[in-house]
Amino acid sequence: MTFPIDAFDDLVLGNQEFRRSFSGSALSGTARKGLAIITCMDSRISPLALVGMQPGDAKILRNAGARVTDDVLRTLVLATYLLGVNRILVMPHTDCRMANESESQLHETIEKQFGVDTRSVEFRTVENQRDALAYDVTRIRSYPLLQSGVVVGGAIYDVATGKLEPVDC
Ligand SMILES: [Zn+2]
Repeated sequence: MTFPIDAFDDLVLGNQEFRRSFSGSALSGTARKGLAIITCMDSRISPLALVGMQPGDAKILRNAGARVTDDVLRTLVLATYLLGVNRILVMPHTDCRMANESESQLHETIEKQFGVDTRSVEFRTVENQRDALAYDVTRIRSYPLLQSGVVVGGAIYDVATGKLEPVDC
């Protein structure tokens, strides 16, 4: 199958523009600031910019709801042993659909609108965002395969104000 250019032509154009001022070729794949951020896929979040960082500084892991899944833990094992990560921030955000709706509501919405039963997928919605954050931070802290000495914190990003609020976990 040929590349579906019609769907991506704006990206190709955007990349041509990007390359004109590109200066990242000297960067390595090691996180220069020793940081990994786990956050949501929400398109309002610019994870590096909101903590004053640049490409090359940090590993960014994203999924629906900023949840600590098995795949996140797998990635953190590699990041902490091989890619310079020694601190990890779990960063969900305000107005997240994963915290505003229940698992069954989301399945129902998709079923009603598209006629597809998605219940074989666990979306990992959260009832209480702070409780879920504490759970996820603890899940990383207690994971036995991570490099020892890694510091783990939790914070909630406010998409309305840009403020990052550290949370006791
Ligand atoms: Zn979200």
